[in-house]
Amino acid sequence: MTCYQCPDCGYLYDEQVGCEHEGYVPGTTWQAIPEDFPCPQCFVREKPDFIVQNTAESDKSNKNDNATTRNTV
Ligand SMILES: [Zn+2]
Repeated sequence: MTCYQCPDCGYLYDEQVGCEHEGYVPGTTWQAIPEDFPCPQCFVREKPDFIVQNTAESDKSNKNDNATTRNTV
Protein backbone atom coordinates (compact mmCIF):
# COMPACT_ATOMS: atom_id res chain seq x y z
CA MET A 1 0.00 0.00 0.00
CA THR A 2 1.16 3.46 -0.89
CA CYS A 3 0.46 6.88 0.54
CA TYR A 4 -0.04 10.07 -1.40
CA GLN A 5 0.38 13.48 0.13
CA CYS A 6 -1.13 16.78 -0.78
CA PRO A 7 1.73 19.23 -1.43
CA ASP A 8 -0.35 22.12 -0.21
CA CYS A 9 -1.82 21.17 3.15
CA GLY A 10 -0.04 17.91 3.83
CA TYR A 11 -3.14 15.76 3.74
CA LEU A 12 -2.15 12.14 3.41
CA TYR A 13 -4.17 9.68 1.39
CA ASP A 14 -3.41 6.16 2.54
CA GLU A 15 -4.63 3.41 0.23
CA GLN A 16 -5.00 1.21 3.25
CA VAL A 17 -7.28 3.73 4.91
CA GLY A 18 -8.96 5.22 1.88
CA CYS A 19 -11.13 8.26 2.29
CA GLU A 20 -14.51 7.25 3.56
CA HIS A 21 -15.51 10.88 3.86
CA GLU A 22 -15.29 11.11 0.07
CA GLY A 23 -16.78 7.68 -0.47
CA TYR A 24 -13.59 5.70 -0.95
CA VAL A 25 -13.54 2.64 1.24
CA PRO A 26 -10.34 1.36 2.85
CA GLY A 27 -8.24 -0.45 0.28
CA THR A 28 -9.17 1.85 -2.58
CA THR A 29 -6.04 2.10 -4.70
CA TRP A 30 -4.81 5.42 -5.97
CA GLN A 31 -5.44 4.21 -9.52
CA ALA A 32 -9.11 3.85 -8.68
CA ILE A 33 -9.32 7.49 -7.67
CA PRO A 34 -10.59 9.78 -10.44
CA GLU A 35 -8.19 12.34 -11.87
CA ASP A 36 -10.31 15.22 -10.66
CA PHE A 37 -10.24 14.00 -7.07
CA PRO A 38 -9.79 17.12 -4.96
CA CYS A 39 -7.86 17.14 -1.74
CA PRO A 40 -10.58 16.53 0.87
CA GLN A 41 -8.81 18.83 3.28
CA CYS A 42 -7.91 21.96 1.33
CA PHE A 43 -9.82 21.39 -1.94
CA VAL A 44 -7.03 23.27 -3.70
CA ARG A 45 -4.98 20.41 -5.05
CA GLU A 46 -6.15 17.55 -7.18
CA LYS A 47 -4.95 14.01 -7.66
CA PRO A 48 -2.14 14.79 -10.17
CA ASP A 49 -0.62 17.19 -7.66
CA PHE A 50 -0.29 14.61 -4.94
CA ILE A 51 3.17 13.36 -4.09
CA VAL A 52 3.90 9.66 -3.76
CA GLN A 53 5.13 8.69 -0.34
CA ASN A 54 7.29 5.62 -0.28
CA THR A 55 6.42 3.99 2.96
CA ALA A 56 8.95 1.21 2.47
CA GLU A 57 11.92 3.51 2.19
CA SER A 58 12.21 6.45 4.49
CA ASP A 59 13.59 8.90 2.00
CA LYS A 60 13.84 12.35 3.43
CA SER A 61 14.27 14.18 0.18
CA ASN A 62 11.39 16.58 0.51
CA LYS A 63 12.62 19.54 2.47
CA ASN A 64 10.23 22.10 3.74
CA ASP A 65 10.87 25.33 1.99
CA ASN A 66 10.74 28.19 4.38
CA ALA A 67 8.85 31.01 2.84
CA THR A 68 11.27 33.77 3.57
CA THR A 69 9.58 37.07 3.51
CA ARG A 70 11.96 39.78 2.43
CA ASN A 71 11.71 42.96 4.37
CA THR A 72 11.96 45.88 2.05
CA VAL A 73 13.60 48.68 3.94
ZN1 LIG B 1 -4.66 19.56 0.52
